[in-house]
Amino acid sequence: MDFDVIVVGARCAGSPTAMLLARRGHRVLVVDRATFPSDALSTHLIQVPGLAALERWGLREAVEGAGAPPIERFTMDFGPFAISGAPPAEGVAARPFCVRRTALDAILVGAARAAGAEVREGVTVEGLLRDGDGRVTGVRGEGFEATARIVVGADGLRSVVAKDAGAALYGDAPSLTAGYYAYYRGLESPDGVVTAEIFQLGDRAVVLFPTNDGLTCVFVACPIAQFHDFRGDVEGNYAEALARVPALTARIGGAQRAERIRGTADVPNFFRRSAGPGWALVGDAGYHKDPVMAAGITDAFVAAEMLTEAVHSGLFGERGLDAAVEEYAARRDARFGPALQLTCQLASMEPPAPEMAALLARVAASPQETTRFFGMMQGSTPIPEYFASVAE
Ligand SMILES: Cc1cc2nc3c(=O)[nH]c(=O)nc-3n(C[C@H](O)[C@H](O)[C@H](O)COP(=O)(O)OP(=O)(O)OC[C@H]3O[C@@H](n4cnc5c(N)ncnc54)[C@H](O)[C@@H]3O)c2cc1C
Repeated sequence: MDFDVIVVGARCAGSPTAMLLARRGHRVLVVDRATFPSDALSTHLIQVPGLAALERWGLREAVEGAGAPPIERFTMDFGPFAISGAPPAEGVAARPFCVRRTALDAILVGAARAAGAEVREGVTVEGLLRDGDGRVTGVRGEGFEATARIVVGADGLRSVVAKDAGAALYGDAPSLTAGYYAYYRGLESPDGVVTAEIFQLGDRAVVLFPTNDGLTCVFVACPIAQFHDFRGDVEGNYAEALARVPALTARIGGAQRAERIRGTADVPNFFRRSAGPGWALVGDAGYHKDPVMAAGITDAFVAAEMLTEAVHSGLFGERGLDAAVEEYAARRDARFGPALQLTCQLASMEPPAPEMAALLARVAASPQETTRFFGMMQGSTPIPEYFASVAE
């Protein structure tokens, strides 16, 4: 075998997996058809558990120093009331950041390379290699082949590794929203506190995330049923959504748009079978969801750590490699299953049920409850634990 591990995809899931395995002494190849630095569709919030992972990897300071301001406050405005506060800190990981993917992904790729992984950029994998028993033994692309004891698909939503491995979906729901975003200069919070703002407007949500270079990412979501109408006049519908937030009217008027509007309606919700003989999936390839919780990056970091532990123990023969990655997939599902359910509920953009509306109003009235609420929404507190405690 040329390598112990081949990782396909080098962004939030792939580079940390490659880095962590290389640091443990494995021979790792990571390939990506992209070159870095490069952008990805994302509003790029890294939640506190994501920063805690970066801290464990020795990368938190590099990411925090990449030019995005620490977010001091989150405000979820429901009209009659607003929940305003911040999630709890995890050690030195205290404030979430929205780091542009041009910066974040390049740091991750650099860390994988520095750990000793061989990183090949601009290389497209077209399919898997197999032995006579059907076990995956490597990857192939135009003019190249490479073999390894395990191939990790970290190649995102349309994963070629998943497709060739025949990985089935489960727990799935189709795309429930469409979203469009652009960057603005001069849209800081009026009181000077760096604030991520979320306005719930029924059939629209408007999100403001402060990011690098003094820019604010302004995202508008609509239900998937309205996607075709929205797409018919993106500029007009985007502006109309912003105009529905009175608190924004003067601020938007005084701000300048810095980049074109981008968008997608391709945000399905699913787990994909993520382990098989000689292969595994991590990140969006194995668990994809609507961006409503802004959790894909953080979840990719967490799953990369889980998979790394499994592959490491499997490669060192403490237990079989296949059993180890099967166990990883089960652990991942147990961890993220409740989040997938909550994501689908929120992405339906239905008005909250009466008991949920009452809970949100109670949360808004209490700073302590607000911290706990943002801890749940941003992955620090397990969702079942949170809802069990508020039901008591
Ligand atoms: C509109 C939007 C907003 C979002 N906002 C947030 C947010 O605020 N916070 C958050 O945490 N998450 C957010 N997400 C989700 C987040 O962007 C993803 O969950 C995250 O990028 C997943 O990382 P990944 O490494 O698994 O996959 P990706 O980022 O998709 O990376 C996959 C990589 O694989 C490579 N690749 C694919 N196929 C091949 C191939 N055949 N050969 C070689 N390379 C290949 C690609 O080039 C790519 O670099 C958002 C998503 C969307 C769509």
